[in-house]
Amino acid sequence: MQPQRRTILHVDLDAFYVSAEVREHPELKGIPVVVGADPEEGKGRGVVVACSYEARKFGLRSGMPISLAYRLCPQAKYMPPSWGLYERVSEEVMSTLRKFADKFEQGSIDEAYLDVTSKAEDEKSATLVALQVKKAVREKHGLTCSIGVGPNKSSAKIASDRNKPDGLTVVPFADVSGFLAPLQIGVVPGIGRKTGEFLNEKGITTIGQLQALDGKQLLSWFGKNGVWLWGVIHGQENVEVRQQDMPKSLSVERTFKEDAKDFREVRKEAADGASELVRRVKSAGYSYKIAGIKIRFRGFETHTREKTLVSHTDSEGPLLETVGKLLDEFETKGKPVRLVGVRVSDIQRSTSGPSRLDGWMGG
Ligand SMILES: [Mg+2]
Repeated sequence: MQPQRRTILHVDLDAFYVSAEVREHPELKGIPVVVGADPEEGKGRGVVVACSYEARKFGLRSGMPISLAYRLCPQAKYMPPSWGLYERVSEEVMSTLRKFADKFEQGSIDEAYLDVTSKAEDEKSATLVALQVKKAVREKHGLTCSIGVGPNKSSAKIASDRNKPDGLTVVPFADVSGFLAPLQIGVVPGIGRKTGEFLNEKGITTIGQLQALDGKQLLSWFGKNGVWLWGVIHGQENVEVRQQDMPKSLSVERTFKEDAKDFREVRKEAADGASELVRRVKSAGYSYKIAGIKIRFRGFETHTREKTLVSHTDSEGPLLETVGKLLDEFETKGKPVRLVGVRVSDIQRSTSGPSRLDGWMGG
């Protein structure tokens, strides 16, 4: 059976952590920025988590010891990772990307596969979709991305990395092998350092050399993975884009700088957290059914409570109300509160229609 040809976009945000920081702090634009461990003037331990393209000009790379980075580029702006910010920005961008796709699969915090077959069946129309995606990411989120377009996931992923930042690389759908042939074997996701060294020892450095081998040879070297690799290098890989769902639950927690003695402060933080959660769930097209809280008093005494709603909803009201009620029992005599958290669970894709509208009975 001939598999149906698909049109796949692999979208990869450029220098994502750093770009998110620059968007948050525009004064960092155009200068070397390093996210990672504290360099402590060259004595710091730990590594570079990410760095800007300006920092890369000084030879900095992610994974490099922070002390070495500091030696190469002491003038860079060094900052600790703000994971909460990256997750929030990622969710915002992913919800935009999802709208373009028939099927959507997030690969990591900053990359995703979009199956756009219903919109584009050839390179030309796929290019137009890719340009729309880039425009939306730039205009809505102030970020750039690089996109690879191909007839399968592996070629699209390899292509997105060919021309960074702000790149667009289209693999000829009928000649994936020809596109891949001149590239180094290391560009294949799945050929790591060890496999690369093994192949180098056999005198193989390019994908073209790999293509020239008999399939049986790959099978004997790599077993089942050899079958997959054969498919990738010959443009025959056809692993589906797997539409994933949201995590089954989402939560936010706030730790007070100084333990809160005024319970109104606790309620305020919880309400802010609840609004944020609903925004995240709703913007991704999902709804929740269980609302919960967590509260920790001074001395680490911790309590959790939850309540199942009548049915799924993506409105803010039910969560705010339930959280408020669940907090009631803890509003006691000014006992200092260290942390408050809000959680929603039993998350599922929102259905349109009446069941969604009359989901919350209130009261
Ligand atoms: Mg990236």
